[in-house]
Amino acid sequence: MNEYDSNRIYDLTSNIGFNKTDIKTEADCFVLNTCHIRDKSTEKVYDEIGRLKKSFRNFKKPLVIISGCVAQAESEEMIKREPYIDIVIGPQSYHKIGDLILNFQRKKGKFNETNFDVINKFDTLKKIPISQNKISSYLTIQEGCDKFCNFCVVPYTRGPEYSRPIQQIIDEANILVKKGTREIVLLGQNVNAYNFFENSKKYKLSSLIRELNKIKNLKRIRYTTSHPKDMSDDLIDCYKDCEKLMPFLHLPIQSGSDRILKLMNRKHDTKFYLEIIEKIKKINGDIKFSSDFIIGYPGETEKDYKNTIDIIRKVGFVNSYSYIFSPRPGTPAANKNINKLEINKTRLQNLQKIIENYQLLNNKKYIDKFSEVLVENKLTGQDKYFGRTKFMAPVIFQSDFCKSGDIINVKINSCNRINLFGIHKISNSERAA
Ligand code: SF4
Repeated sequence: MNEYDSNRIYDLTSNIGFNKTDIKTEADCFVLNTCHIRDKSTEKVYDEIGRLKKSFRNFKKPLVIISGCVAQAESEEMIKREPYIDIVIGPQSYHKIGDLILNFQRKKGKFNETNFDVINKFDTLKKIPISQNKISSYLTIQEGCDKFCNFCVVPYTRGPEYSRPIQQIIDEANILVKKGTREIVLLGQNVNAYNFFENSKKYKLSSLIRELNKIKNLKRIRYTTSHPKDMSDDLIDCYKDCEKLMPFLHLPIQSGSDRILKLMNRKHDTKFYLEIIEKIKKINGDIKFSSDFIIGYPGETEKDYKNTIDIIRKVGFVNSYSYIFSPRPGTPAANKNINKLEINKTRLQNLQKIIENYQLLNNKKYIDKFSEVLVENKLTGQDKYFGRTKFMAPVIFQSDFCKSGDIINVKINSCNRINLFGIHKISNSERAA
């Protein structure tokens, strides 16, 4: 989501005359868009400002703006602690960045803008031209979260759940497709909680997917990140007949222990999770799953950990994001006793090894077969292309004839854990066509 936000922050600043530069010391304005999900994110911001100060020692000081979730969490405190920072702006008010910059230039005051102003944000953004023209583009449809998992800062930094009007999203999707996008990844902290009411009609994620499925030149649809509780039957049914919805689902479970899921306030248990996986597999036996895991959540025993390993083996996830629990200030889990770091490190390494093994085994299945690939780009300085399979697997391949945005069949010759490698050849008649 920060990538989407960063692109839109750029669009907003370019609207008042700013351009991107790769030369740091040329910048008049420096925007650091931050994420608060990981450990020590606040300190990393101050470290970055330290580096910035050094770089600009012999140059005119740039206007320094901190945006994103660290800005939201720290707010006014940032300007007090680091006077080099001029503007602090939260993720739900970044649409005001243009006005804040202009006001700063006029008055030279410091600004802290961390209100939850999400409706105005998207109303403003819809009027700002989109510069993004990638083959695979992100599109934010929902923000915030009402689930309040005990370890997570999102409900505090992004605020309550908000779903954008459906027509606004369809319009943005059409703009992206006109600019060359062939795959849209719908984004939300709780994307499958998408829920928009208009004229006494309720639109859910399934309604949106069905609408986007009709866009002629759009070839692929994905969505992330989902909560198991919101995997409703109407959404699962989309895997039956929305041919553009890709057969790959990232569905975080966090732990395979019901006791830990309860302590986390996840609002689902492992039985519920596995039932969803089964329902989806019944519709499409080929669908692949990835997940998120937190290792060493306060109170996690060896038995809880083993339950997590069991569920990994049961589902056979082909990818995962796995981390050792780290407390987020202000969340209910922040002050709980945690396991020794050494224990957690060993558990994490072991879990990652198991998932990496599944990843490699899964990739090996493609060798000597054709995979349908969406071509994203030519690799810089190489005679090779990059694309992804329906299952999100990255493919690096040689081709004697293809262009970005094409969907082609690539013969896979080899792989490692992450990438598939192959070749794309076409006949003379295909080339003529
Ligand atoms: S559902 Fe996701 S975003 Fe919401 S509180 Fe839980 S982990 Fe955070």
